[in-house]
Amino acid sequence: MLLKIKEKTDPAQIARLRNTLELNHLGHCVSKTKTQTVIGLEKALPQEVMQELESLGCIEECLTITTPFKMASRSFKPDRTKIRIQDTVIGGDQIVLMAGPCAIESEEQLRSIAHELKKANVSVLRGSAFKPRTSPYSFQGMGVEGLKLHRKMQKEHGLLIETEVMDVRDVPIVAEHMDIVRVGARNMQNFNLLKEVGMCGKPVILKRSMSATVEEWLMSAEYIMAHGNHEVILCERGIRTFENSTRSTLDLSSVAVARQLTHLPIIVDPSHAAGRKDIIPALSKAAVALGADGLLIEVHNRPDLAKCDGKQALLPNELEQLSKELAQIAQAVGRWI
Ligand code: PEP
Ligand code: MN
Repeated sequence: MLLKIKEKTDPAQIARLRNTLELNHLGHCVSKTKTQTVIGLEKALPQEVMQELESLGCIEECLTITTPFKMASRSFKPDRTKIRIQDTVIGGDQIVLMAGPCAIESEEQLRSIAHELKKANVSVLRGSAFKPRTSPYSFQGMGVEGLKLHRKMQKEHGLLIETEVMDVRDVPIVAEHMDIVRVGARNMQNFNLLKEVGMCGKPVILKRSMSATVEEWLMSAEYIMAHGNHEVILCERGIRTFENSTRSTLDLSSVAVARQLTHLPIIVDPSHAAGRKDIIPALSKAAVALGADGLLIEVHNRPDLAKCDGKQALLPNELEQLSKELAQIAQAVGRWI
């Protein structure tokens, strides 16, 4: 159940309302965005509690939503969410291309890649400064220095920038430097991190964990929304299956299913799903044909020297070619790149 609170309600009234919920042992969370306040409830309110709350005079609407994810559901918001960041709209008619290196490695690397990517209609430059690596001996990322480099180079190239945040303690600095904050697959159910990015004030890319169901994925989006951030971009990046010809198995049906269940934009990362570059064009085209709102693709100027994920990185000119081919598919489904 969701309670939409009337605009300009006195915070003392909301405190009273919460107090009533607490006295009745009703789990809830207050989601306050710039434009609205919504209270999410774990379960439906008993009649007598509902009457007590209504007598406070601050409830605009009470919505009964049967799915466990509420604010993320289409029952809460039938229209698709469009996330505007400067001139880029994610979730609109444009297929938004996000591309760049797996990891930020140096100023020269970022400069060279960003320069090339502008020719490929890329809107967002990806690049991780904090790397979740299976081995503690592998390159762990440049850390805060990498964030600063990402930001510094933005003045030159003008693209939007995004990066992964792995640790609750890094959320403020990541949000300060980035246009979009990314929660990686391995942290999809790091609930403290989800709460923190829910309060960070920047759009969040939420990757699907390799072992999460679509419902669990949407529940993680709900965490972020319940803490006040409704700008969540879902990202399908492949799941673990028995198949070993690819790194993960790109679950395109999750995109079709999630589109029915949620109003949030959905993008696809074919790079981490495939783990190899040869099938990235095919997966990307399928994702656009299916209704994905964007793609997150790894690109490197020197994949042979990449500190991370070189095998799955396209060259900038390969992305440029792919972008042209994707434009035709986008047009066929009434969209553009
Ligand atoms: C990434 O995008 O850099 C990444 C680590 O991907 P994932 O979290 O999907 O494994
Ligand atoms: Mn990578």
